[in-house]
Amino acid sequence: MTLTYIGLGSNLGDSLQILSEAVHKLATLGTVKVSQLYQSPPMGPQDQPNYLNAAVALETDLAPLALLDELQRFEQESGRVRLRHWGERTLDLDLLIYGEQHIQNDRLTVPHVGVLERDFVLKPLLDLDENLQIKGQPLKDLPILNNPNLTVLDAGNWAHL
Ligand code: ATP
Ligand code: MG
Ligand code: MG
Repeated sequence: MTLTYIGLGSNLGDSLQILSEAVHKLATLGTVKVSQLYQSPPMGPQDQPNYLNAAVALETDLAPLALLDELQRFEQESGRVRLRHWGERTLDLDLLIYGEQHIQNDRLTVPHVGVLERDFVLKPLLDLDENLQIKGQPLKDLPILNNPNLTVLDAGNWAHL
């Protein structure tokens, strides 16, 4: 079993429903724990809706690329279409952390490139483990968290697990 962390985002369609369904699908891959639900302004093109974001801790037996296959299948099932880089999407599932592993290949960079710079990734991760570290860096000490640009939409059991 490996402890992994998945970042979830959506800003097209019924985002709450889509993220909730994604959590239920992730729960078929192992044991899950779910962060609070957040709203954040878009990264990249600004002429797109705000995002809903969350993170899931998933304990799974799946190898990294097998897990990525499942994440991409769930994205496709949500109707995701690639319109433009960092553009609007029904569902984004990023493999943020896979145990202690560092992975670098054609399909996968882990830890995910954006983690340390994105408050909408860091805040949900810290809900799941406030002492989480990447490469020895305690995430809670990162300065970007001093002025987070996101709001908690639902602190409760929003995914109805
Ligand atoms: P970003 O990765 O900056 O958050 P994005 O999520 O919009 O941008 P996608 O279009 O979802 O990017 O993914 C593009 C490619 O990223 C995928 O084809 C996938 O192979 C690759 N990728 C590399 N590392 C990861 C990872 N850790 N998790 C998910 N996809 C990854
Ligand atoms: Mg992403
Ligand atoms: Mg992605």
